[in-house]
Amino acid sequence: MWDAREAFRRFWPLTRGDRGRLLVIIGCVVVSALAETAAILLFAQLTDDALQTGSLSAFWGPAGAWLGVAVLGALVGYLGNSLATWTAERFVLRLRANAFRHVQDLPPHFFQKHRQGDLVERLTGDVEAIEELVVSGVVGAVSAAFSAVFYAVAALWLRWDLALATFVLAPLFLLAARRFSGRIEQTSRDERAADGAITSVVEESLGNIVLTQAYNRRRDEERRLEREARAWMRACVRGSRLSERYEQFVEVVETVCVLAVIGLGVWEISADRMTLGDLLAFAAFLGYLYPPVRSLGRLGLAVTAATAGAERIGEILDAEPAVTDPAHPLPAWPVHGRIGFHDVSFTYPGAPHPSLRNVTFSAGPGELILVTGASGAGKSTLSKLLTRFYDPSSGVICLDGAPLTDVPLEFLRENVALLPQETLILNGTIRENIGCGRPGATDTEIAQAARSAAAHDFVTALPDGYDTHIAPGTAALSGGQLQRVAIARAMLRAAPVLVLDEPTAGLDSVAARQVVQPLRRLMSGRTTLMITHDLSLAPDADRILVLDHGHLVESGTHDELMAHDGTYARLAAPRGRPAQRPPALRR
Ligand code: ADP
Repeated sequence: MWDAREAFRRFWPLTRGDRGRLLVIIGCVVVSALAETAAILLFAQLTDDALQTGSLSAFWGPAGAWLGVAVLGALVGYLGNSLATWTAERFVLRLRANAFRHVQDLPPHFFQKHRQGDLVERLTGDVEAIEELVVSGVVGAVSAAFSAVFYAVAALWLRWDLALATFVLAPLFLLAARRFSGRIEQTSRDERAADGAITSVVEESLGNIVLTQAYNRRRDEERRLEREARAWMRACVRGSRLSERYEQFVEVVETVCVLAVIGLGVWEISADRMTLGDLLAFAAFLGYLYPPVRSLGRLGLAVTAATAGAERIGEILDAEPAVTDPAHPLPAWPVHGRIGFHDVSFTYPGAPHPSLRNVTFSAGPGELILVTGASGAGKSTLSKLLTRFYDPSSGVICLDGAPLTDVPLEFLRENVALLPQETLILNGTIRENIGCGRPGATDTEIAQAARSAAAHDFVTALPDGYDTHIAPGTAALSGGQLQRVAIARAMLRAAPVLVLDEPTAGLDSVAARQVVQPLRRLMSGRTTLMITHDLSLAPDADRILVLDHGHLVESGTHDELMAHDGTYARLAAPRGRPAQRPPALRR
């Protein structure tokens, strides 16, 4: 568990670049507090010289000074507060960008471990909570401390004995805040976690609305939401009860102080040792003194609560990317597309068994390599290693003879294009969806890619053509059409190496047939690794790799593998009849 100091140390560096501004803000805060102190002293002067004597001539001087001080205080206060808000929001902006950038580099297993809603909550609510710890926390603490010191000094200056008598109660505020802070931290942590759980449930339920409606799961989903919402409610109520208890306790302490001042004041005035003006000013100082002391206490509680958020962001920032850019990257070269796996084994982080064991094969430009095997055999893992979502636990993977670990990540992913089973769609126009294959592509190039992907005709038939807006889960285009948009994107990317992960698995046979020609054009002249269990495509492959429990058990052409009674022949036996084959992928 983190404490506030650790959280602060961790996130303070993000204020770099704004520290000068923080100093200006603190300067404003100090001037504001000074202005208020001066105003109270002028008020005492007015009471004694003008009010009590009824002298108008004694009024103008202090009144003018007071007005001047008030206007100065207002201007400086406005400047300080606006600057503080701006600095605080900039901090939030920077922290969120940092955390988001980091999350985007994290490996697939991180996203399997964390629910999406919880991550959303961390990147939104928790990020803002940290701001309270770092920027507002510092500004608030400095402001409260200076105000408290000024008012205390002024009160001491007016009547040190009275002031000391009333100050003895002040530490009670801080003691109370301390007592409450541990419990408030736990409550905040529960509240944040519950917040994340609620977002997750809503997101998962809405993302799965068909299952919910078709299988009458509404009640179950409602119960799930209610369970999380109740946890949230409990944490909120507990939290607000705790801070309310603190506030009310402080209220009582304050009343005791005020009564003490009035009692002592009455005694002093009756003995002629104090003027009414002094007493009023003194009471005003105390009235001003307690809020900052109180807010120091409250700030302590807010900081404690923010620590819970800081810890949750820290967990994200501490998660390591599975791959990093090489320290000494190779310079870019015109990639031919030769790939080689040399004795590659891989175990997922935390998994008990390797998912790939001593896999060796190679492929060259223009070759279609088909990777098949039972579910869980390690096919997708192969594609994740080639696109470098992970590095092998042992062995080496090469592109044109260069180990992938020496190739800059961006360059690698420019040259090894992935076309996964689920069609990846951006929230944007069709033009943007295709164009993201190669940033800077012209409209003509986009249309050309769409033509090769057999997408141009159906796109131009849409009322908005290439400007049609699509989003993940869109109903505007069919599955086959979306896949052709994705093929156009890959076409535009023009990467020498292609990794196709079950490219037709989510499509019906008509849609699958429609993507065959575009795929054939896409693959021509490239090195293609196609992961599939659809062996009807096998006879067209230059080589078939058969995986079984992570082992590469067989390798050869369809005819070679069918010739001996191995795993492939068994896998191919129930299907693979020539009569059932869809059109051949390649000629
Ligand atoms: P295939 O694509 O052949 O169906 P995968 O490559 O997806 O198989 O998975 C191979 C093995 O690795 C399976 O046993 C699977 O359970 C395991 N696996 C896949 N992803 C992970 C992961 N993120 N963490 C741990 N094990 C995983």
